[in-house]
Amino acid sequence: MPDSAKRIAILGSTGSIGQQTLDVVRALGGRFRVIGLAAGRNVALLAEQAREFRPEFIGCSSLDGGDERPEALADLEGEFLSLEDIASHPQVELVVIATSGRAGLSPTLAAVRAGKKVALANKEALVMAGEIITRQAEQSGGQILPIDSEHSAIWQCLAGEKQKAAQLILTASGGPFRDYSLAELDEVSVAQALKHPSWQMGKKVTIDSATLMNKGLEVIEAHWLFKMPFERIRVLIHRQSIIHSMVEFIDGSIKAQLSYPDMRLPIQYALSYPERLPNPELPHLDWSRIASLTFEPPDLERFPCLKLGIEAGKKGGTYPAVLCAADEVAVELFLSGRIRFTDIPRLIERTLEQHEAIAQPTLEQILEADVWARERTTKQVEGR
Ligand code: MG
Repeated sequence: MPDSAKRIAILGSTGSIGQQTLDVVRALGGRFRVIGLAAGRNVALLAEQAREFRPEFIGCSSLDGGDERPEALADLEGEFLSLEDIASHPQVELVVIATSGRAGLSPTLAAVRAGKKVALANKEALVMAGEIITRQAEQSGGQILPIDSEHSAIWQCLAGEKQKAAQLILTASGGPFRDYSLAELDEVSVAQALKHPSWQMGKKVTIDSATLMNKGLEVIEAHWLFKMPFERIRVLIHRQSIIHSMVEFIDGSIKAQLSYPDMRLPIQYALSYPERLPNPELPHLDWSRIASLTFEPPDLERFPCLKLGIEAGKKGGTYPAVLCAADEVAVELFLSGRIRFTDIPRLIERTLEQHEAIAQPTLEQILEADVWARERTTKQVEGR
């Protein structure tokens, strides 16, 4: 390995984004050295990855503190550390946060406080604690590099611009049910909801894409990443998933970023930034196969999760944390067959209505709101 290789750690290495990050590292051989790998329950794959990349630090969030290593990890050479210690380790230059849900918050904060470059795929961290994370990054000199494809697109469109954008336009595929009626939505199965028309992703984000909650969370994410008021963030349904988002400037000019929907591109851009690197494995657009690019406004009646997301973002305080937690619980309940697809927004809305929000919360208050919302959402179903 050349000494110039960027030293990276990947938290959530066994998930969809984590595995694709390792694909990028393999394809760009020698540019990056994986010195930290961390995962949760999938210890067999973590062990396999550790044997291939030989990281100095290994994290396993399913081990609590001093627990003994599971057999699969017993003979690995790396030092076992917590996700937070890996994220903030002096030897790590860039941390990829690819854990899903609330689990990403604490390592993100640790990395940001340590002034790291943080390639962030976990949107929940910014949604829950965007104000704290962005403030800490400003203070420590840390940098948040978005991996979410829409935010990567906006970031790429903003490159080289000196003035603030007039408007951000987030695109959404609309998910597998974009043409379903309300009655049809009531009957959809878990298997149908897990079939996304254009993206291959983990289960949580796939269901969030089907309800459009994913886009609601992304609006809040964009608000914090680009310091943009909610009134100037728009959502457009774009079925082909070729334009990943757009930026409108004060003179009316609009820039867009286009590519096939492939997460390896935004992952690679975050890893290599400010450089771009050729990657023979990434598909280039074939214009002869693109018949048309279409745009339409989202339907908030059929997809109330988008509205709930934007409203929670505008209200701020602990509302976004409650939104995230209620959504995580509701998605799990749907995946386990305990509620219908259309119950997801109903449960989230009821939990939000019952919440007594705190403005400008501390991290502790955000975490308390998270716990409260999980209990409250679960209880709604138990009471039936
Ligand atoms: Mg996205």
